[in-house]
Amino acid sequence: MANAKHHQILILGGGAAGITVAAGLRRSGPRSLDIAIVEPSETHYYQPCLTLVGAGAYDIAKIKRPESSLIPAGVTWVRGAAKAFDPDNNSVSLDTGDTLSYDYLIVCTGVKLNWDKIDGLSAALGKNGVCSNYSSQYAPYTWQCVQGLKPGSRVVFTQPPLPFKCPGAPQKAAYLTADHLRRAGMLPSCDLQYYVHAPVVFGVPFFARELMKVISRYGIKAQFQQNLVAVDGAAKTATFETVGGDDKGKRTIVPFDMLHVSPPQSPHEEIAKSSLANAAGWVEVNQNSMQHVRYPNVFSLGDVCSTPNSKTAAAVRKQSPVVVRNLLRMMAGTPVEAGYDGYASCPLTTAQGKVILAEFIYGGKVTPSLPLDPAKERWIGWWIKVTGLPVFYWNYMLKGHTWFWKHDTAFKGDAA
Ligand SMILES: Cc1cc2nc3c(=O)[nH]c(=O)nc-3n(C[C@H](O)[C@H](O)[C@H](O)COP(=O)(O)OP(=O)(O)OC[C@H]3O[C@@H](n4cnc5c(N)ncnc54)[C@H](O)[C@@H]3O)c2cc1C
Repeated sequence: MANAKHHQILILGGGAAGITVAAGLRRSGPRSLDIAIVEPSETHYYQPCLTLVGAGAYDIAKIKRPESSLIPAGVTWVRGAAKAFDPDNNSVSLDTGDTLSYDYLIVCTGVKLNWDKIDGLSAALGKNGVCSNYSSQYAPYTWQCVQGLKPGSRVVFTQPPLPFKCPGAPQKAAYLTADHLRRAGMLPSCDLQYYVHAPVVFGVPFFARELMKVISRYGIKAQFQQNLVAVDGAAKTATFETVGGDDKGKRTIVPFDMLHVSPPQSPHEEIAKSSLANAAGWVEVNQNSMQHVRYPNVFSLGDVCSTPNSKTAAAVRKQSPVVVRNLLRMMAGTPVEAGYDGYASCPLTTAQGKVILAEFIYGGKVTPSLPLDPAKERWIGWWIKVTGLPVFYWNYMLKGHTWFWKHDTAFKGDAA
């Protein structure tokens, strides 16, 4: 009989991954499973719609729900945050002072947004035209900034070093802003600049090619290998440092009327310094089975794990059934199986009413779920993003259902 501080399955983090995997275990496992979720926040956000909030296309009130309403029936919610890990002794200490022991651990604590890594950014955010869709607090301010643009406005967007969650989110903000300006007849007079840390705009060449066409259509000036290092809100300037090429180390001060920042991201410190982490600080799991490479009773999924896929809720949807299945197999004494192929998806909102539905697996292989050319901007993708996926997320994925259209791993249309 377990005591109050022991749980058979302990899940750290009650975000997209934590709730989905807990619901999946309740749905597929025996009713007797003792499952607890450790989560400090009272409110759960459907983050993929933050992009739409920043474009005035979605109501912020519709993306948040009380955490208590999402914890599956029969699962214990432990209010608190994991602070230190002792996987050799199957225990985790919390910031509340409690220590919890477990038989099986599932780590899904997401990523940390490092606003403070950019000089002046935290103080500047939310005023003087400095906004970010990465913050549920400030995404509505993005839309305010967009509405305040005038002919001749200078608009600057940033894309941080990899990895960061949702590889398309920084550029979606740029395209939806450009589309707004186009509709208002102001696009030709405005100066839109897109500063990217990487040498390319998107990691999958098939989609990067299409996105460069979108960038050129809007007349956005893309600047590659540029890292945002400082923001001066009062002076309305952003400082970038060149991170590659002949000009490496050169600093450029760029004036703006609106600055949309996508912050640098990392694992939370408590994860990075634990023995669960790899050298880069992510929870080190097998990229197909999601099982920890050193502690077999530990699994991880979502943004915090080391798998080299794009960090998206879509990836969580495909990882969660693999974790559920493998954990139940372990309990039954059967070996774990591979199952996750690196699937991620990113509905790239190129304009109001238009989406390139990017779906791909490890190695940047394009794997569409719909029998349509995935390079094309389509209205159906917009409908999926704005209407279909939110309903699906709240009522199906977070309830532990797993059936979904299969993505086409035999797709050949991405051959260069
Ligand atoms: C602007 C934006 C746009 C996006 N667009 C898309 C999109 O179009 N498509 C898509 O698929 N994905 C998109 N995403 C990404 C998607 O939201 C994430 O990949 C997904 O939420 C990851 O789930 P997760 O559970 O790993 O992390 P999260 O959902 O972030 O949850 C992590 C949870 O862990 C908790 N936590 C943190 N530290 C601790 C601790 N020490 N102890 C216990 N709990 C802790 C947090 O409070 C949080 O609730 C977007 C994200 C953003 C910000």
